[in-house]
Amino acid sequence: MPAHRDGWVLPENSGRQSERKELSLRDLPIASAYLFDIDGTLLNSRDGVHYNSFRNAMMLVYGVDTKLDNIPVHGNTDVGIIRAILEKAGRSHELEAELPRALDMMRAEVEKNIAGINAELCPSIRELIEELHAQGKILGVASGNLESIGWAKITAVGLRPFFSLGSFSDTRERRVDIFRHGIEQARKLLNEKLAEKHEKADPDAVVCVVGDTPSDILAARANNAPVVAVATGIYSYDDLLSHQPDLCLHCCTDLFADNYVTLASLLLRLRL
Ligand SMILES: [Mg+2]
Repeated sequence: MPAHRDGWVLPENSGRQSERKELSLRDLPIASAYLFDIDGTLLNSRDGVHYNSFRNAMMLVYGVDTKLDNIPVHGNTDVGIIRAILEKAGRSHELEAELPRALDMMRAEVEKNIAGINAELCPSIRELIEELHAQGKILGVASGNLESIGWAKITAVGLRPFFSLGSFSDTRERRVDIFRHGIEQARKLLNEKLAEKHEKADPDAVVCVVGDTPSDILAARANNAPVVAVATGIYSYDDLLSHQPDLCLHCCTDLFADNYVTLASLLLRLRL
């Protein structure tokens, strides 16, 4: 029986987990900073604001009428989605010249309809974010969204104050580059904090990524970052587990199953 990287035992050749131990916060990969994907990880949007910004920008800028059918959107980036739409229409050569105008149009449309954003937090995300924040971890967002759209969603669910950095797709189309930039920013912030305390810099500080797609797992791996996969997007727990993340969760409630609390979260709960 091959052992999974975090110690779980997997049935041979199946990539599936037969027995599942009860998890707790202690099972999270230890890191100085945690980067969270947005869609399907922190929250799920129950509105058409972001989707409509794609449709309208594609129509007005490129003259392409799309419903985003058969376009890989989950685990993709906003720029990558526009590229995929144009490729499907046989017009990929038109991407670059009009891209800044298309992205500006998307940002403006989401800004105009910001009150219509209806995002639902994924289970126990707030508890996890509050816990990590109470532990003094650096928290960031690493997402394929455009920056202003990503922050609009996070603000809508009340999580904005917890995040001190973000890496988005405005100038980086590939998820692996978005994650790399987020990891670099997190290490820079960490080292600034260490310098303030007259402590030695840690250029290789561990930054853990949390995501909901195989693309997140692959992009984290490409950056040598530990990765937690959470099945709160469209991918199933078994799908994600087969890509061998460091930790696989049905949802973040799995981490609170044994009622284990850290001193940090106890103090937070008692508001001390
Ligand atoms: Mg996602």
